[in-house]
Amino acid sequence: MNIHEYQAKDILKRYGVRIQEGIVAETPEEAVAAAKRLTEETGTGWHVIKAQIHAGGRGKGGGVKLAKNLEQVKEIAGQILGMQLITHQTGPEGKKVNKVLVAQDVYYPGDSEPKEYYVSILLDRAKGQNVIMASTEGGMDIEEVAEHTPEKIFKEWIDPAVGLRPFQANKIAFAFGLQGEAFKEFVKFLNSLYNAYVDTDASMFEINPVLKTSDNKILAVDGKVDLDDNALFRHKDLADLRDLAEEDPLEVEASKSNLNYVKLDGNVGCMVNGAGLAMATMDIIKLSGGEPANFLDVGGGANAQTVEAGFRLILQDPNVKAILINIFGGIVRCDRVANGVVEAYKNIGTINVPIIVRLQGTNAEEGARIIDESGLKVYSAVLLKDAAQKVKDVLAEMA
Ligand code: GDP
Ligand code: MN
Repeated sequence: MNIHEYQAKDILKRYGVRIQEGIVAETPEEAVAAAKRLTEETGTGWHVIKAQIHAGGRGKGGGVKLAKNLEQVKEIAGQILGMQLITHQTGPEGKKVNKVLVAQDVYYPGDSEPKEYYVSILLDRAKGQNVIMASTEGGMDIEEVAEHTPEKIFKEWIDPAVGLRPFQANKIAFAFGLQGEAFKEFVKFLNSLYNAYVDTDASMFEINPVLKTSDNKILAVDGKVDLDDNALFRHKDLADLRDLAEEDPLEVEASKSNLNYVKLDGNVGCMVNGAGLAMATMDIIKLSGGEPANFLDVGGGANAQTVEAGFRLILQDPNVKAILINIFGGIVRCDRVANGVVEAYKNIGTINVPIIVRLQGTNAEEGARIIDESGLKVYSAVLLKDAAQKVKDVLAEMA
């Protein structure tokens, strides 16, 4: 689960990480009030208005702007709130901005030496360890640094049973060329960051940029956090940070019916039981000249209700031109699934796209017979090859 920058910074602060302070706002008026309060609390004269969406690259997309007085705070907040912000992580349609973070300006005017670093902690699944990635090239696209100057990214692996050891934090501070007070501050920063990462069961904490001010403070200017969904049951407070407005509405609906659904850009909807079979089905759709419109795993115990819920989800996507149902009857019998398909079809009423049903496994023949005799615009197939051919045929017919 992803969270917003302002929520990430709240967590960081609780663990003793120094942050760029800010207050979240949903209207230009709230932004002005927030700016006034920040000036009282921090003494800042200028403010940075930052779009809160679950995507990075906001600065380049026009979602992070400096305001030098309260009129500018109001004007910029007005521009950013409600905008459809497009960054390299949002896709071409962008994301609507519902909240801004009004933050203190931490780049002192006239400061010739603010230095930006990159620090992230993530899980290295292959090694079974946490890894700290650090770079002197902060504030930039880390993917670009990795591609063009990979030698500028340091990695330090951490045994989760032992934790971050002092020499490891020192090593990164040395690599950054830090000295004196800044060195001590950075080591403290890294330890607090690591504690936050471990305690929240996160799979990633990325701080880009980490700022060293000219008076040797180290602070988190940005914060991107990915929490492990499977651990949220033991973090009620963190689970509450979920922002449904940031998620695809169809995916939110699917999760309510316990369906594993991921929306894609293609034209062939697919409904499958089992993630592996779903992947294979998507491959077959591609091979037959279509593009999958979604990934949908209805789980091992597919019944009439789950089939219907799956149908409804797929049909809400206007790009869908055909549906391929590919169910392996193991725990669930094919005749039951076939009856479920027919029932769902009748319940939903008008389905204007052709449906290809491939049932294999227990009672496959009976399932095919039920489909064929239903009198509905549903084609049955027993072999995956045949199903793919039928997808191809219906797409060709429509073209
Ligand atoms: P991102 O573009 O989504 O990664 O958003 P960031 O929070 O990293 O902000 C983008 C850029 O805005 C940073 O790399 C900084 O260069 C700039 N920025 C952030 N905070 C301040 C600030 O307090 N003052 C100034 N002048 N620039 C800032
Ligand atoms: Mn950033």
